[in-house]
Amino acid sequence: MPPIPGLQVVRSTIDGYGVVASRPFAAGEVIAEVDGVPWHAEESVDDRYSLKITDDLLFDMVDQTRWINHSCDPNAEIDSEVDDRGRPSARIVAIRPIGIGEEILYDYAFPAYLAEPCCCGSPQCRGAIVDEDEVSEGLKKLGLKSA
Ligand SMILES: [Zn+2]
Repeated sequence: MPPIPGLQVVRSTIDGYGVVASRPFAAGEVIAEVDGVPWHAEESVDDRYSLKITDDLLFDMVDQTRWINHSCDPNAEIDSEVDDRGRPSARIVAIRPIGIGEEILYDYAFPAYLAEPCCCGSPQCRGAIVDEDEVSEGLKKLGLKSA
C-alpha cells in the first residue's frame, strides 16, 4: 500500500517501530484515516494492532497507523465511529501542533486487564499502558503496585 502522506515509519526510541511526522500538523487536524478490517470481539483476532471501537467491535489497523506508539502524554487521539451498517471507521487527529520529525503518539487507554508496562518516557507516565481511570488496577495487575 502507498505510504500515508505526512507520515514516516521509523525505529522508535520508545518501542519497536514508531511513526513520525514528515510535515507539520495543526491541532485538530486529521493526520490519517485508518485503513482497517473490522472484527467482532468474540472472534479469534490478533488484537495487537486493533482499535477497540465498541465493546463488541475491533478494527485491526492494516496501514502505517498500526505502528503509532502509545504515550501517557500524547499529541494525537483516535476519533472513531460506526456507521448505520455497522461498519467502523477511525482517524488519527492531532490534539496539539506536531512538528516535523516528532513522533505521533496517542493514548492506548487499555482496560486494566490488558495493561502493559509503559516506557513512553513522559514525565506524566502512568507506569502502565492503561486507561487513566484504571491506573491502580492496571499497576496491580502488572505487579507494579501492591494492594
Ligand atoms: Zn507512559
